[in-house]
Amino acid sequence: MVLVLGVVLLAVWLAPPSVHSSADWFPVALHAICEIFAITVAVLVFAVTWHSYRPGQPSNLLLLGCAFLSIALLDLAHVLSYKGMPVFVTPASPEKAIDFWLVSRALTAATLLLISVRSWRPLTSRTPRLPMLLTALTMVAMVYVFGLFFPEAWPPTFIDGSGLTPFKIAMEWAIIGLLAIAAVCFWHARQSRAYDANGLLAATLISILAELCFTAYHNVNGLYSLTGHLYKVLSYGLIYRIVFVSSVREPYERLAIEIADRQAAEKRIEVMSFYDALTGLPNLVLLQDRILQALVSVRGDDNPVVLLFLDVDAFKLVNDSLGHAHGDNLLRAIGERLREGLPATATVCRYGGDEFAVLLTGLTNADDIASVPQTILDLLAAPFQIGGQAIAASVSIGVAVAPHDGDAPAELLRNAETAMYKAKQAGRKTWRFYSAAMNLEVSERLQLLNSLRQAIDQHELTLHYQLQFELGSGRIVGAEALVRWEHPTQGLISPDRFITAAEESGLIVPMGDWIIQQACRQAAQWRANGLDIPRVAVNLSPVQLHHHSLEAVIKRALSDASLPASALELELTESSLIEDTEQVLATLISLKSYGIKLSIDDFGTGYSSLAYLRRLPVDTLKIDQSFVRGMTSAADGHAIVEAIIQMARSLGLETLAEGIEDQCTADELLRLGCELGQGYLLARPVPAEVIPALVRRLRG
Ligand code: C2E
Ligand code: CA
Ligand code: CA
Repeated sequence: MVLVLGVVLLAVWLAPPSVHSSADWFPVALHAICEIFAITVAVLVFAVTWHSYRPGQPSNLLLLGCAFLSIALLDLAHVLSYKGMPVFVTPASPEKAIDFWLVSRALTAATLLLISVRSWRPLTSRTPRLPMLLTALTMVAMVYVFGLFFPEAWPPTFIDGSGLTPFKIAMEWAIIGLLAIAAVCFWHARQSRAYDANGLLAATLISILAELCFTAYHNVNGLYSLTGHLYKVLSYGLIYRIVFVSSVREPYERLAIEIADRQAAEKRIEVMSFYDALTGLPNLVLLQDRILQALVSVRGDDNPVVLLFLDVDAFKLVNDSLGHAHGDNLLRAIGERLREGLPATATVCRYGGDEFAVLLTGLTNADDIASVPQTILDLLAAPFQIGGQAIAASVSIGVAVAPHDGDAPAELLRNAETAMYKAKQAGRKTWRFYSAAMNLEVSERLQLLNSLRQAIDQHELTLHYQLQFELGSGRIVGAEALVRWEHPTQGLISPDRFITAAEESGLIVPMGDWIIQQACRQAAQWRANGLDIPRVAVNLSPVQLHHHSLEAVIKRALSDASLPASALELELTESSLIEDTEQVLATLISLKSYGIKLSIDDFGTGYSSLAYLRRLPVDTLKIDQSFVRGMTSAADGHAIVEAIIQMARSLGLETLAEGIEDQCTADELLRLGCELGQGYLLARPVPAEVIPALVRRLRG
């Protein structure tokens, strides 16, 4: 900008004398407007620095402000004394106007010089604001007195007709000199961060250009005068901008940044106060909030809120043996597995120390709830790689379910923790429901599974046998083994009550192994005792059939008991034959080729297609009891049984009717061509030791 203004001034300088001699360039009115504008800007400089002043600000700003108040007042006197203006105490004259002007210019130069050499550091003590202002005003007052009442005290500056006196020109050059020194100082301070030295340099250089105009003019209304005044206004404006930016805008922007920083810090604190620093999981505070939300949003029993309290087993041991750093790593790893393994809707939280908590919603059925603790144990089953070592870790889990176990976060947490201690007492790596929490279904189921597990070890299971007959001759063809549970307190429990649970938990596999062994042993014993029971039939669960060990178990049972394979029959359900066809088929073919007899139990209740049956290596279809009973009651009952028998015959299979309870049904079945039968009419299921007597009685 300075360069452009310099070029403009050069153009003015090069303008022909005729242009310069014209007095129309700068009429009094325009001069007044220019000056009033300059005065306003100068007053603004003062007002902004004065009112925005804070002890931390450079005192130079205040100095500049006070000086500009003086400059404004001097410029005011100058404009009022300008040729063509009305009487201002004394009549106007160029001489009088120039006197005020010169002082004002000198003050501007001196101020710029002063702040260019003074330090811009804020003063350590409070800047004496008022004395500074008073000094400035006193100085102005003195200049007013001299300018108005003792004009002769000044050397002449302007002589009508001949123009500026050498004194005036010398003064202007002196002012230019001061400004030039200030400009050099600002130039050197260009890199300063304390203030806008570049801006002040520009303002100073523009002032110099203005001054050059004032050394050159012959005519106060000429082009030089106009240019000089315009440049002066520009330099004031620039100074106003610098002052405004450094005392208002910059602090304001700094404040905005500070506020943003503080908000970011607050956010960080918030994160820190809701999340655990070690694992990054939600902490107790957030958990409580989530529990509260869950309790509010899911009301009623249909949508329970499940809270699990986890405590790492023997964590102290890990900490003591591997050190705290590895202990921390283990906690982190456990947290990670929980977070990754559990559904996204679960809140996994670090409760504190070696304790975690898991909040689950949306589990509607009791089985789902009951399976969560086992899922967690499974998740943590594989060892953790900590510090190059494989560390096995487990947890004890306490479960509380809202609303049964409390409808407030604190109460739920307390109850889940209590249950966790029960789990610890029970030998760790297991879980306990807070007793009140277990709605009947869940608790019964869990108790059943727990005691069923023990039942196998403690030999509480036993087998009853139900004889099977040839309907035509009444000959015994076999005995079906039916499992019973002799519960120490509840007495004999029927398989209907525990087979499903055993299947779902996988317990059916060890249980089934035992049943096969036991049945084979029993059959062998009867044979040894000369009892004519050609076969023993064992019920196989689909789970067993899909388990890879089945074949080996059966073969071992047979060889252990020295029982021929032909003395064993396996009863399969239709459902077990549907899935995994190829593998099942291979197993069945292998068993069959070994000499074992196969039958399809409860036939008619499942989905066996005729085409599928054709591929299966089975010998017998067992017509389900419901059809046999329906033969006499339901309208189409007779037809269904007849159809099954026909179909079996066409496939070359035997049929055995189950659940024959009366002679009438037995006769009818025989008439329809059903060869074999089983039911209360013929023989009830009885303990093994009763069988010999039963067989003897039937013969007799
Ligand atoms: P299932 O294989 O159909 O066994 C026949 C069921 O009918 C037996 O019940 C038997 O006591 C009963 N029953 C026999 N004749 C009659 C009759 O004339 N009338 C009536 N109303 N019922 C009769 P149980 O022993 O309670 O066994 C129930 C089911 O439990 C069995 O049905 C079988 O699916 C399962 N089960 C029993 N023992 C075992 C086993 O050792 N392993 C497997 N996987 N499942 C077994
Ligand atoms: Ca059966
Ligand atoms: Ca059956």
